[in-house]
Amino acid sequence: MTTTPAIAIIGAGPSGLALARLLECRGVSYIIYERDAATVEGITTLGQPRAGGTLDIHAATGQRAIIEGGLLKEFEKYARYDAATFKLWDYHGTQYIDHERGSDFPEIDRGDLRKIYLDALPAEKIRWGHALKQVTKDAEGLTVLEFADGTTASGFKLVVGADGAWSKVKALINPVAPQYCGVHYIESRINPDNPVHAAVQARVGKGMLIVGGPNKLITMQNLGDGSYRVYSGARVPADFSTDGQVDFGDTDAMRSLVLSERFFGAAWAAEFRDYIRHSTDFRPWPLYHVPPASVAWDHVPGLTLVGDAAHLGPPSGEGANYAMTDALYLADKIAAHDGLEGDEALDRAVREYETEMFERGAGLIKRGVQMIDMFFTEDSPRPMVEMFSGKGVPIKEEKV
Ligand SMILES: Cc1cc2nc3c(=O)[nH]c(=O)nc-3n(C[C@H](O)[C@H](O)[C@H](O)COP(=O)(O)OP(=O)(O)OC[C@H]3O[C@@H](n4cnc5c(N)ncnc54)[C@H](O)[C@@H]3O)c2cc1C
Repeated sequence: MTTTPAIAIIGAGPSGLALARLLECRGVSYIIYERDAATVEGITTLGQPRAGGTLDIHAATGQRAIIEGGLLKEFEKYARYDAATFKLWDYHGTQYIDHERGSDFPEIDRGDLRKIYLDALPAEKIRWGHALKQVTKDAEGLTVLEFADGTTASGFKLVVGADGAWSKVKALINPVAPQYCGVHYIESRINPDNPVHAAVQARVGKGMLIVGGPNKLITMQNLGDGSYRVYSGARVPADFSTDGQVDFGDTDAMRSLVLSERFFGAAWAAEFRDYIRHSTDFRPWPLYHVPPASVAWDHVPGLTLVGDAAHLGPPSGEGANYAMTDALYLADKIAAHDGLEGDEALDRAVREYETEMFERGAGLIKRGVQMIDMFFTEDSPRPMVEMFSGKGVPIKEEKV
């Protein structure tokens, strides 16, 4: 007879995988249910590349979860410590910042991070192809997981929603819907065989380049395979990518759209427009967040949330780091209370985790919202230049 694991983790993203590894190290039994059908790196169930190719993992947060999970050596094999470079330009082609952020901010491809964890976790502790449909409480108050394929699972002492922005676990805990931030990014790629790849490589290097213009932004980032991800951001309506007007599968139409006045029209430097003209694999990334004040709820025994499921914010470069930090705090609290010996002790551990996480999570969202306001302004990139200058980053204005 198999015993039900103490903890069910929904989702094998950075938060769910970090939590699983930390529980494994602490001898707490768990199982992960993941929607993706297979372990294919960076590919979603829909067969599309997962958004957010590379993540910078910070020393004080994400790296701590990796170290506590005993995976630093593996992390170092994949982490790109020389990728922490940052350039800031304006849309006319004037450079303001060319800065080396230092070794506390190595980049790692999202797929590599997943691989490190999957290599370290027993394969039988992950159930692939298990898309959670809903969570309910039965007549005895026990949590029941219902999956899209009609199967169910129950008997866990704790169910942790690590299922991202549109969490199904959240419905029973804190049913606050994410709200649109007013901005869409259009993600595209420049692969190594692209005719403009050498020019992009010379311009962006191994790190990141941000180009700011009136209410628009281009971000370009290097990935481990040498390709570049391009994020073209603008203020557009919430239904921009779903109203049927834009066909993301039509590469030529997408290039025309992104080069139109709605995005990066004639006023933008020819060089950046040329990069867009050669981009491929366009896909939408509408930005959503929950109100910071909503990251606080009355504890529901037997359930909790980590990562984006708990505190979805606009991108701030910290989402994955905070997601992994949640995992670390939760695992530590459970271990400290020897939580699984009694329901009350486990409950206390989760409450303590949530109290600490609420403030941290709300702060993350506030910073993300401030960043959107700073990025998408009429006089962009001026506010960014001032912000970095205030942090002591050297500013040198030069036409390149
Ligand atoms: C383009 C982009 C760039 C980013 N860059 C950075 C960065 O540089 N640094 C940084 O710190 N953060 C970054 N972020 C944010 C970061 O990716 C998220 O904050 C982080 O991934 C959150 O981790 P998570 O585990 O909570 O959720 P997710 O990464 O969303 O993982 C959720 C997991 O749950 C699974 N799942 C979802 N629904 C279900 C279901 N119903 N049933 C079962 N499984 C389910 C999903 O398939 C997925 O595997 C970026 C995000 C994007 C989109």
